[in-house]
Amino acid sequence: MSKNILILPGDGIGPEIVTEAVKVLAALRDDFGLDIEMDEALVGGAAIDATGGPLPETTLEMAQEADAILLGAVGGYKWEELDISIRPEKGLLGLRAGLNLFANLRPAILYPQLADASTLKPEVVSGLDIMIVRELTGGIYFGQPRGVRELDSGEKQGFNTLVYAESEVDRISRVAFDIAMKRDKRVCSVDKANVLECTELWREVATRVGDDYPDVELSHMYVDNAAMQLVRAPKQFDVMVTTNMFGDILSDCAAMLTGSIGMLPSASLDENSKGMYEPIHGSAPDIAGQNKANPLATILSVSMMLRYSLDEPAMADRIEAAVNKVLDDGLRTQDIMSEGKTEVSCDAMGDAVVAAL
Ligand code: NAD
Repeated sequence: MSKNILILPGDGIGPEIVTEAVKVLAALRDDFGLDIEMDEALVGGAAIDATGGPLPETTLEMAQEADAILLGAVGGYKWEELDISIRPEKGLLGLRAGLNLFANLRPAILYPQLADASTLKPEVVSGLDIMIVRELTGGIYFGQPRGVRELDSGEKQGFNTLVYAESEVDRISRVAFDIAMKRDKRVCSVDKANVLECTELWREVATRVGDDYPDVELSHMYVDNAAMQLVRAPKQFDVMVTTNMFGDILSDCAAMLTGSIGMLPSASLDENSKGMYEPIHGSAPDIAGQNKANPLATILSVSMMLRYSLDEPAMADRIEAAVNKVLDDGLRTQDIMSEGKTEVSCDAMGDAVVAAL
């Protein structure tokens, strides 16, 4: 039966990069027999402009019915003045929560062709291949109570709540251990157990889950040290698992080790491996509409979709080989451009990947 993919272009460079990823999906469908149908819907600022809210009910319903979702990015200057409760980013959080996408997988892989794009020394980053598993539907981004209140003194006080139930830590830890079993069999659980009781519990549960995976080596690290180690000696890590906020920060740090945010895909999965796939970068309003964005992170997100949700690993391999081929051929968008290479536009990069499939 054909699989249904919901396409959510979003804002800024979202529509440009998603167009290129859709070209790749269409080529796999038309030339290589991938059995898919694609639908499109609104999210983020585009949805606010059309409907008044960042996540229309029809979009959430279509997402719930789809087998997988491909998202560009949301947000932009135009909507920055809106109340936080109806900003474009709320559309994303709503999708994650509404689909129960609790596991965010963010690989940080350094393509050898781009070793000189990293700000770190080549010997520190060459061969880098880390998988960061970030908890995505809990923790301080969702915890209640939250808000800004006025104290008796008249001063305002902002507050958020960090909460994790054992079951939430258990399921995200299992995702990390399962992935580690297919890699180098090492998990580093990142917390701040010396200061935060909530993550003391996190450490306890991660250790308990680790007992079920005797072949995987489990280590624990405080988040401040993890940030330092990521830039000091990143190759020491295989799989890292951590809370929503720590994962948000550490995965952006890991992304920069690879030189460009325009190269890195991500997956957000539910209990049944249904997922939403998106590049890790935002809507890049500074370059939107200029046909300059790097579409490879979005195209590689399609590859993750084929691997994790659609059970089509050979198609995923085909995309990854095509991306390697265009990099080998010296094609670069401006964000990864270096001397002696050929600078290409967003759509030319997409066309080159399709041709290399
Ligand atoms: P950003 O990731 O959009 O941009 C950071 C820098 O990286 C910019 O200089 C941008 O031009 C560049 N960049 C990003 N993606 C690129 C690509 N594919 N090719 C080439 N260059 C690229 O982050 P930001 O500037 O902090 O945020 C811009 C908007 O995006 C904000 O509204 C923010 O809330 C939103 N945002 C959305 C998501 C998402 O949709 N998942 C994630 C992060 C930020």
